[in-house]
Amino acid sequence: MYADIIIDITHEKLDKIFQYRIPEFLEGELEIGMEVIVPFGRGSRETRGYVVGFSKQADYAEDKIKEIFRRAEDGMAIEAKLVKLAAWMRESYGGTMIQALKTVLPIKRREREQQKRKLVCLLEETKGRERLEFYLSKNQKARARLMAALLDERELDYGLVTKKLHITADVVRALQEQGVLAVESERVYRNPVIVQEERSGEISYTPQQQEAIRIFAEDYGQEQYQTYLIHGITGSGKTEVYMEMIRNVAAKGRQAIVLIPEIALTYQTVMRFYRKFGDRVSIMNSRMSAGERYDQMQRAAGGEIDVMIGPRSALFTPFPNLGLIVIDEEHENSYKSEQVPRYHARETAAVRAELEHASLVLGSATPSLESYYRCQTGEYRLLELTRRAGRQPLPAVYTADMRQELAGGNRSIFSDILHDKLKERLERKEQSMLFLNRRGYAGFISCRSCGYVVRCPHCDVSLSAHNNGKLICHYCGHEERNVQVCPSCGSKHIGGFKAGTQQIEELVKREFPSAAVLRMDLDTTRKKDGYEKILSAFAHEEADILIGTQMIVKGHDFPGVTLVGILAADMSLYSSDYRAGERTFQLLVQAAGRAGRGRKGGEVVIQTYSPEHYSIQTAARQDYTAFYNEEIAFRKLMGYPPAENLLAVLMTGKEEEYLEMAAGYLKAYAVRMAGETVGIIGPASPYVGKVSDVYRKILYLKCPKYGMLIKVKNYLEQYIQINPGFQTLKIQFDFNPMNIF
Ligand code: ADP
Ligand code: ZN
Ligand code: ZN
Repeated sequence: MYADIIIDITHEKLDKIFQYRIPEFLEGELEIGMEVIVPFGRGSRETRGYVVGFSKQADYAEDKIKEIFRRAEDGMAIEAKLVKLAAWMRESYGGTMIQALKTVLPIKRREREQQKRKLVCLLEETKGRERLEFYLSKNQKARARLMAALLDERELDYGLVTKKLHITADVVRALQEQGVLAVESERVYRNPVIVQEERSGEISYTPQQQEAIRIFAEDYGQEQYQTYLIHGITGSGKTEVYMEMIRNVAAKGRQAIVLIPEIALTYQTVMRFYRKFGDRVSIMNSRMSAGERYDQMQRAAGGEIDVMIGPRSALFTPFPNLGLIVIDEEHENSYKSEQVPRYHARETAAVRAELEHASLVLGSATPSLESYYRCQTGEYRLLELTRRAGRQPLPAVYTADMRQELAGGNRSIFSDILHDKLKERLERKEQSMLFLNRRGYAGFISCRSCGYVVRCPHCDVSLSAHNNGKLICHYCGHEERNVQVCPSCGSKHIGGFKAGTQQIEELVKREFPSAAVLRMDLDTTRKKDGYEKILSAFAHEEADILIGTQMIVKGHDFPGVTLVGILAADMSLYSSDYRAGERTFQLLVQAAGRAGRGRKGGEVVIQTYSPEHYSIQTAARQDYTAFYNEEIAFRKLMGYPPAENLLAVLMTGKEEEYLEMAAGYLKAYAVRMAGETVGIIGPASPYVGKVSDVYRKILYLKCPKYGMLIKVKNYLEQYIQINPGFQTLKIQFDFNPMNIF
């Protein structure tokens, strides 16, 4: 027997299967997905690799085939189905097989298992008392103390004994040798969910919730495993529906994965699941230690939990019988990986669900164009929740035209209407949120006389002004002193115009000195728990106004909030990106959804310089269908996803001219191989043409058929592999990218 091995070295040249002989002592021991140590290269260096298949015949001369050394004892095995998934990811997104394998194996190494040691009394009562007398008579105080404790409780926690009773390991050993006690140990899992809350009672579902639950259960009962999109406005009870679906699946002995954007994975959310499923729930997140994460994977593999909640990588949880994958806020950008393979969790989940005969449920108040489009084509089944569950009315939305405000003499960042409403809230002791569509104190620095913008000398992006008087590059960290006069024309009218969260905080404090204000942005949340602390302070109504960036609009319930102000609503409209309209609509609707989650109802003010844009207008009306119809018409017209597919080829290199030439060759080859259905754009310098002294070029390929783009990608990968000229360059593929680079 021979094993097919993928070697753990990321290099395009080595991205193929190597055949190894299986030594006698490993016969029948190896399985697909296991990690092994093999001799590799001229020196037969010990190298790690994964088994991806077996064969009876040698594909090479017998004497050319080396033998596996042994299993990697510290390695984690990849489930066979996940190996298949990895192969699909490699094919569909590019990169090497080892990169794909490592992606489906979020925990790569075994961690130390945590043991709980306990002391168990071996003597019966009377014998024990005699012992105690004996120790006392000998004035052996520590031994007596331990003996007395063992008489009280026949089992003691080892840690407790040594710390609380101040008993040394020597004393424990002595009693062990005298046959008084035994030291036993058992494995315990580190558990990131620590709660002492009541399980919740049943709620009665709304008719729309019942309908969604019924359709799912009916299909599931008939083993019709499908993909559903729950389009439900904020507060319509999507989470309750997911939980009921999971209950259904768990009752059949199957498990569920719930993906949530990391930023929305709060204590609040986890508690809701915990109340329904108790400690059959676990979570994964990037703040957990390797040991904690390892234990959660072990619990999942061992069937000790039914539900795993986590961000993108939790998709690869190795459940024994996965029955359902839920992706909440499915439109979120964070479901797309920015590392090779640049996979999208939604598409990858669909493939995993198929391999496992499981269902996939997507949910959002503002579905991605992709998912809604697939509902229209009949690929997904649409479930709609159009009404809020708790009977709170939808907020009233006002649009303030900032051009008119300026013409009317209002030069402040607040429209009159937002100012008045904020004042009203403070008088009524209600909470408000102010949402700003960007970060930083003063943003970029530009000259009002000539338009010059201060840029990073290494990265070709504008520098951001910070409070400390420095200009900082957010890509490479380059710092320089702020300028007083324009380096280009000498004018003194140079500075930052656009308001940042910090500046808004100052303005709010000046305007409303009595208001308690909290600010949430990258600066205030950098410290550990900074994010949770601010959220919890605001939830406990310790502040009147919360000012923040994107972070504050993601799925938190603040029942006390009755006003949401959206400043600079159109900031995201003007990025040179085909998703700008969609992103703006999503942000506005999600932000508006934060108002009136409590009993009092809410109001929203959208401040904009382009009130006629359909993204703004449909968001103000909370009309997804109208937005979708406008947006999909635009995508079809321009041939953008989801109407067509887009493949970005990202190329980076240290020498600009060489990179340009190589990009030209690659394009020529693509043109030759692709045929007429594929449109080819570029190569162009992306918006950020140079990062940390490395140049970047980008080539776009456009085609209605995804499969055709995969084919072209495969041709290009081969071409790059066999031409040594590409060796000094880094080339990556990105299908339907979330951002234009
Ligand atoms: P979504 O996920 O769609 O934003 P949630 O599931 O978080 O909605 O529900 C919003 C609020 O309404 C939550 O506080 C939830 O407990 C409550 N809720 C949901 N469904 C019901 C129901 N059928 N009856 C009463 N309250 C409900
Ligand atoms: Zn100037
Ligand atoms: Zn830089």
